[in-house]
Amino acid sequence: MTKQGRDDFKEQVKRQLAMRVCYQCSKCSSQTVGPSSSVGTTNIGVAAHITAASQGGPRYDGNMSLEDRSDISNGIWLCQSCAKHIDNDVARFTVDCLSRLKKKAEDKAYHALPGDSGLADQDDDHDILIQAYRCLEFSEDWRSSDGEEKCFYCTSRPEFTIREKDSPFKPFHEEWLNSFVKPSASIYPLIVFWHGTPIYNTFFVKCDESRYYLPMPQKDNTGGFFIKKKSIAYRIARLYRQHYPLDSTLSRCKITLRD
Ligand SMILES: [Zn+2]
Repeated sequence: MTKQGRDDFKEQVKRQLAMRVCYQCSKCSSQTVGPSSSVGTTNIGVAAHITAASQGGPRYDGNMSLEDRSDISNGIWLCQSCAKHIDNDVARFTVDCLSRLKKKAEDKAYHALPGDSGLADQDDDHDILIQAYRCLEFSEDWRSSDGEEKCFYCTSRPEFTIREKDSPFKPFHEEWLNSFVKPSASIYPLIVFWHGTPIYNTFFVKCDESRYYLPMPQKDNTGGFFIKKKSIAYRIARLYRQHYPLDSTLSRCKITLRD
């Protein structure tokens, strides 16, 4: 809580809300992050409350607990204008209306993910994710730096970097991990940054003492596991494979490569 009596979101919740919609306003779709000066970044988005953080605020619900009020489920990522608009017009922007806007924006972001529709088929140079995907085509452009944390950066487009982060989440399919990979293998989120702002995150499992990384596969409706060739995750796996034969390793671990 930043102010007394306000159930504000934690920084991590704000970041998750923003990333879940690619840092675009959930109402007007404006981009809310960008460069500032030659190296900085600017954020004009806000994690707005669906039901107000404090008594007397817009759509305040006295029956909600403090935890629920600052939970990610009570937040929506908006630009500053839209955040003001929804609070000035609570008759129109009800809890239901905001929940629908949030769901629609998150669905749109989900379907824009490379694993879902295939980024390479799209042609929009302004989309940062597509630019990252294209940069990843050329593994020779990427260098690793072994500082405190392992990091990859693109020599032709240094604004793009890839870093490992610690995370308590373990989103891998357990049966796949247990059957085809060591259940004890370490799981790492890999995050693609653009000008220091996270734009894409995915999970990898480190195998054989970090000699290779396997991307988190998707599961199809017959119970099979696969990863799409036209995806950022597959291109990151190529970057991290070093001298490992990636495709045969994927197939050994029962991950099918799909076009
Ligand atoms: Zn907006």
